[in-house]
Amino acid sequence: MRLSIVVPCYNEEAVVDLFDQRIRETLDALSVDYELCYVDDGSADGTLERLRALARGREASTRYVSFSRNFGKEAGILAGLKEATGDAVVVMDADLQHPPELIGRMLDLFRAGHDQIIARRTREGDKRLRSALSRLYYRAVNTWVDVELTDGVGDFRLLSRRAVDALLAMPEYNRFSKGLFSWIGFDTVTFDYRNAAREAGETKWRFGALVNYGMDGLISFNNRPLRLAIYLGLIMSAVAAAYAVAVTVLAMIEGPDVPGYVTLLVAVVGLGGLQMLMLGLIGEYIGRIYYETKRRPHFLVKETNAPRAFGVTRQG
Ligand code: UDP
Ligand code: MG
Repeated sequence: MRLSIVVPCYNEEAVVDLFDQRIRETLDALSVDYELCYVDDGSADGTLERLRALARGREASTRYVSFSRNFGKEAGILAGLKEATGDAVVVMDADLQHPPELIGRMLDLFRAGHDQIIARRTREGDKRLRSALSRLYYRAVNTWVDVELTDGVGDFRLLSRRAVDALLAMPEYNRFSKGLFSWIGFDTVTFDYRNAAREAGETKWRFGALVNYGMDGLISFNNRPLRLAIYLGLIMSAVAAAYAVAVTVLAMIEGPDVPGYVTLLVAVVGLGGLQMLMLGLIGEYIGRIYYETKRRPHFLVKETNAPRAFGVTRQG
């Protein structure tokens, strides 16, 4: 069998060489036939030069593709999966936060017949606030979303060929890969590993990006939030109707009541806020439809040493 390793890299010049060395050591020790599929996600540093150098003279085991600009990790994973030819594919980060040593265990589980083998990191060493927030988020998301999202489960996993083909058959533009992985199903196993710190370079996640990512998780997989808008609207209407009846009855008994502008103000502002929220929510879905209907490619290839995988003719 042949194993493909998919590695999205964005500004990872400080660590790709070390990654390459460590992964080769590990895979050689496992004596498995392998290929490394690097994706340079439009890095602004010397990542592409490093990848060229890593591939030079080793074209059989090292493929790389470089994007015309930064298209995001999800696009990088997609390109890597397209590039990969193996019977099993491992997706992992370039920064060695995904320990290569775990691949042996993944291979054992793959040979035992599983299609998706997920390595879940423990939240050890994370800031307490951050892990509490993620726990809260996942609990909320899982009550809303059709697919099951698990805390600590990232993109580090081994996929069988049929799982990869299933992912590649999903054409959507908005790729929330955590959700897609979970959506395809197949025989899935999870095991835990201890979280490691990045070897070099720095994280590309800022707090804002995390919030946006969380939003994607909520919205990418169903339209239940839209239904929430209907329910909220119904509840608000019912409350308003009951209030109207109460005010009318009171006015008939005690005469018209002039003070009460606070109630009015609260009602107007509250409802206004709710309407903005719901409009934004609807807009979010429409925005997604807009992007999907454009049918733009997920990424553009600038350079690759695996031109056939991408249907491009010019080679770097
Ligand atoms: N990455 C990418 N494109 C991006 C951002 C990140 O390909 O736009 C890659 C990055 O090079 C790394 C992996 O995704 O290999 C995870 O990124 P990072 O380590 O910054 O995330 P964290 O581990 O902090 O969640
Ligand atoms: Mg990282």
